[in-house]
This record gives sequence, structure tokens and C-alpha cells, in this order.
Amino acid sequence: MPTALNVLIKHQEIKRAVARLARAIRHDYMEKNPLLIGILKGSFIFMADLVREIDMPLEVDFIRLSSYGGGIQSSGKIKVLSRLNEPVEGRHVLIVEDIIDTGLTTAYLIKYLKRKGPASVRLCALTEKPSRRKIDVKIDYTGFTVPDKFIVGYGIDWNEKYRNLRDICYIE
Ligand code: 5GP
Repeated sequence: MPTALNVLIKHQEIKRAVARLARAIRHDYMEKNPLLIGILKGSFIFMADLVREIDMPLEVDFIRLSSYGGGIQSSGKIKVLSRLNEPVEGRHVLIVEDIIDTGLTTAYLIKYLKRKGPASVRLCALTEKPSRRKIDVKIDYTGFTVPDKFIVGYGIDWNEKYRNLRDICYIE
């Protein structure tokens, strides 16, 4: 059970970062009708805010991958729990993730998507913890680099709780 929640990134700062990421994405994907693929559930708020800042045609899909199952340590074994609805072949795909920790989840997803013949695959992460990386993944658009703490809020949970916090906090 968490003993305390401490604010790490205030909502206003998140808002500014989302606008910055959206500008870069719009610049790079103009005329490409990209398919943004969010990893559920953690990315749902980030995705909702991000796409509303990108003023151009795009499409959205979600995929659900197995997660930590309530704990705070990754098992490293990843499974697809619910599949994509949209075909990926020939599409410019942008993965939208809440946090990159070991990198195992996104490395798995990139491989999974590349087998489907997309025109390109890139990665946008709201937060990343470089100190925890176990596998090299290229993050094309990064919101924040965060310390090695367990974070919650802005869509990110602990045991399904705290997703509705406006700020990103860490648990002690
Ligand atoms: P990775 O495969 O990169 O180790 O982990 C990615 C996933 O682990 C994230 O989508 C998230 O579900 C979970 N995760 C990693 N770090 C944290 C954290 O600090 N807080 C929470 N709530 N989940 C995390």
C-alpha cells in the first residue's frame, strides 16, 4: 500500500509537453495520415490530449498488452490481450505510450507491428526512465525523463487506482 503521493510533474507542465510533442508530430507526419496506436490502458489520457493538439488528419487505434498485473515489477513476458482493429500494412504508425521503463513492452510491440508491413513505425513516450532500460528502444518523441520512481496519474495506475490524477505523482 502506498504511503504517500508526491507531485512529480504538474498538469500545466504536462500540457506544455503535450503541445510540444504534437507540434513535432504534426511537422513530421503532414500529409501522411498517420495511425496512432496507444497502449492500453495507461496511454488513454495522453492519447486523448495529444490528438486534440494535432490539427491534421490522423487515425487512432489501441492495443492492450499484458502489464505488471498489479505489482511494480515487470515479469518481462508480454502478451497481446486485445488486438488492433485497423490494418497496419502500408501505414505510418506512431506508438503512443505512457512510460518506457525496461523497454521490453515497446520492443515487443515494435517487432509485432513490423511483421504487419507498416510504411514506418515510430515511438512517442510521455515519460521514460533511462536508468531502468534492459533493451535498446529508440524513442522518437519524448515528453519527460523521470527518475527511477513508481509513477501514477494522468492515466497511469497503481492497481487500477490514481489514473484520474491530473498531475504525475510518484508513490513512496
Ligand atoms: P517496460 O516494458 O518498458 O518495462 O514497461 C512499460 C510498462 O510498465 C508501462 O506501460 C507501465 O504499464 C509499466 N510501468 C513502468 N514503470 C511504471 C511506473 O513507474 N508506474 C506505473 N504505474 N507503471 C509503470
